[in-house]
Amino acid sequence: MTTAHDRERGYDCSFVADLLPEEQVSFGDSAAGNHAGDWGTAEDEEVRPDVVVFPESTADVSAVVAAAADRGVPVTPYAAGTGLSGGATPAQRGISLDTTRMDRVLEVRTGDLQVDVQPGLIGEELNEQLAADGLTLPSLPTSGDISTVGGMLSTDASGMNTVRYGKVGDWALELEVVLADGSVVEVGSKAVKSSSGYNLKDLFIGSEGTLGVITRATMQLAGIPEQTRAGRAVFNSLDDATAAVHDAVQSGVDLAAVELLDDTTAKVANAYSDTDLPDKPLVFFEFHANHGIEEEVDFFEAVLESHGVERVEVAEEEAEMADLWAARHDLAYAVEEYDPDRVPVGPEDIVVPISAYPEIIRFAKEAAREAGLDSFWFGHAGDGNVHGGILTPEDDPEAMARAHEVTDRIFERTVELGGTITGEHGTGQHEKRAHMSREHGPVGLALMRAVKQAIDPQGIINPGKVIPEDAPDGQGPFG
Ligand SMILES: Cc1cc2nc3c(=O)[nH]c(=O)nc-3n(C[C@H](O)[C@H](O)[C@H](O)COP(=O)(O)OP(=O)(O)OC[C@H]3O[C@@H](n4cnc5c(N)ncnc54)[C@H](O)[C@@H]3O)c2cc1C
Repeated sequence: MTTAHDRERGYDCSFVADLLPEEQVSFGDSAAGNHAGDWGTAEDEEVRPDVVVFPESTADVSAVVAAAADRGVPVTPYAAGTGLSGGATPAQRGISLDTTRMDRVLEVRTGDLQVDVQPGLIGEELNEQLAADGLTLPSLPTSGDISTVGGMLSTDASGMNTVRYGKVGDWALELEVVLADGSVVEVGSKAVKSSSGYNLKDLFIGSEGTLGVITRATMQLAGIPEQTRAGRAVFNSLDDATAAVHDAVQSGVDLAAVELLDDTTAKVANAYSDTDLPDKPLVFFEFHANHGIEEEVDFFEAVLESHGVERVEVAEEEAEMADLWAARHDLAYAVEEYDPDRVPVGPEDIVVPISAYPEIIRFAKEAAREAGLDSFWFGHAGDGNVHGGILTPEDDPEAMARAHEVTDRIFERTVELGGTITGEHGTGQHEKRAHMSREHGPVGLALMRAVKQAIDPQGIINPGKVIPEDAPDGQGPFG
């Protein structure tokens, strides 16, 4: 078991130099610094690993994990480090296992629409290689151009096209995983369905590297659609915009993406992207089809009109579509840079059933307003996912406390509405971890801990993540 003392002192990891060639091992400051945190880890929360290893094969991963297990040294999988929850930050030091040199497409089976791929390949790079065969992995997150297949599977990432294509994990058929003792297991199969035994594949998906290291994935693929349309709609009220999206999704119209921005988010987008979006609620949408796309778009426009839409623009040329959507695509960067004096604090990626979408946005805005703070809210409206933040002066502890109180209330309301505290970024090691018991209860958490204990009895694979240490069932610390 790892302890706070180990975190300060670190571990003797010199043994890895006997396992891998010199160029696959770094004890240097620069590699340690590059693996001390992910995108969601503030500088003062970073933890430097004692060593970074760069495996190039499943055998490399297995050798490192087996030797680490013999010595009780923690191993934290690290991919592109774009995670927003501190999942790849090596909370207990030890070994940072960087998967990015395992970045090859192993086999494309066009007849089955399947690919076998190593975990360290960037999502968009996979799609570039698949395009020659007219195939695509369609559910990539907004960060698909900077995050890896293994990272996406481990957080069960999703994105703007989830309303049509589901999550990245939904496309995984079979995974090869190195377990905490270095043994290798294949879970799932290359068949598109199975009712054989417990669904171990889905246990690893979204487990944030706490149950093993994914070393290969067989992914189902889709054909690239022949027709696409993209558009933008302006509303006068948030209630009209959310009601329009809700009705459209309920009608079964074949949306490939439908995103909502509130009026404050429109300002945030304008400031970064140099656009002139009106400071009003906006809906961005996209359609994919092989035939009949005009009928779908017309139907959707009629739904928007029935909710008093002020203006709708639709484009079919690629450059024009990209222009209409640019501000939405850049939003993840825009929120970071909006106001140098105020940082966005908040629940990040809650999800509610779509009928509760208007209510949770209203609730979040009102709770922030009552606390005297501005807030902005946007998200994947078609699947009930809300992103956003409460703009809080960084150097005002009292305002910061109020913002965290509002965040707590939003988490509470989300769970009351039947939702989840994290829809795509994972729990990691930050604020969301403390809210796990609210969502899962003591029995749910005890079950998670039992799973972790069964698969990783020493607690060496990515400790300090996901399951809160002070869970109310009274069991000892276990990450
Ligand atoms: C600008 C921006 C936009 C984003 N947009 C989205 C979005 O639209 N949707 C979304 O879901 N997320 C989004 N994210 C978050 C992030 O990109 C995803 O969480 C992504 O899946 C992380 O992939 P990664 O390769 O960077 O993994 P990392 O951050 O390196 O790791 C993520 C987690 O997976 C574990 N891990 C990594 N590889 C393996 C492996 N092979 N085996 C086992 N565990 C592993 C790590 O230990 C860690 O817990 C965004 C992030 C940024 C910076």
